[in-house]
Amino acid sequence: MLSRVRGWFRRTPPSFDPTWEAVLRSGFDHWNLLDDAELERMRMLVARFFHGRRWEAAQGMDLTDEVKVLISAQASMLLLGLELDEYLDVSSVIVHKSTMRVKKQRPTGGGVWSGGTQHISGQAHHRGPVMLSWSAAQRGARVPERGMNVVYHEFAHRLDMMDGVTDGTPPLGDEAAQARWQQVFTEAFARVHDGESILRNYAGTNPAEFFAVATELFFNRPFDVFTHERDLYEELRSFYGQDPANRLVRAGIHPDA
Ligand SMILES: [Zn+2]
Repeated sequence: MLSRVRGWFRRTPPSFDPTWEAVLRSGFDHWNLLDDAELERMRMLVARFFHGRRWEAAQGMDLTDEVKVLISAQASMLLLGLELDEYLDVSSVIVHKSTMRVKKQRPTGGGVWSGGTQHISGQAHHRGPVMLSWSAAQRGARVPERGMNVVYHEFAHRLDMMDGVTDGTPPLGDEAAQARWQQVFTEAFARVHDGESILRNYAGTNPAEFFAVATELFFNRPFDVFTHERDLYEELRSFYGQDPANRLVRAGIHPDA
């Protein structure tokens, strides 16, 4: 009896508004590549993300449901194949109209710091909010071929941070998996520094940025990663539990097309 009473009072899960479907089909290219089972899980994840976060607008951003749903879906893409229905510790998302200006502080030696400003399209702090530029998020969702996606990038950082350290290695199964990951990522990271990588230079900033940039490319240009960074592709495929290259083939898109 008690369990029935408890069931009665259990919070109803957030629901996916059917009108979001058209928004996602036209505004989020990857949505159109998903099969029925993937769509079913994605609708659950999107609804959870949409309703479970605190949303804040900055720079006079008009924070409509369309904006929130398109960001929710991109963030949820990374969770699609994980045994995780929600980002832990991401309580709020702050959406800016376009790039954000942040102060850049760089040591120049002798205790002297050089200032200046930097324009960024996103930022993710440990246990803090995720900040995104809507213009970048919108472009990333619509034009994956460019290889960039600020939402994938910042939420890859959040997955990386789940074990408490932002080091380019998210929580992995066992020690063997961790050793393999570190070997593959170290070699691929070195190729960025040697100018022999398909990953953009920013990936060479540090291992955390490498993982975030690799995630963007893995989902957006999977054939490139599969062809030029095969071991990296396999590690990401196994971590994310998704095979984006195969998803393209399933949709009739081939590497030489
Ligand atoms: Zn980053």
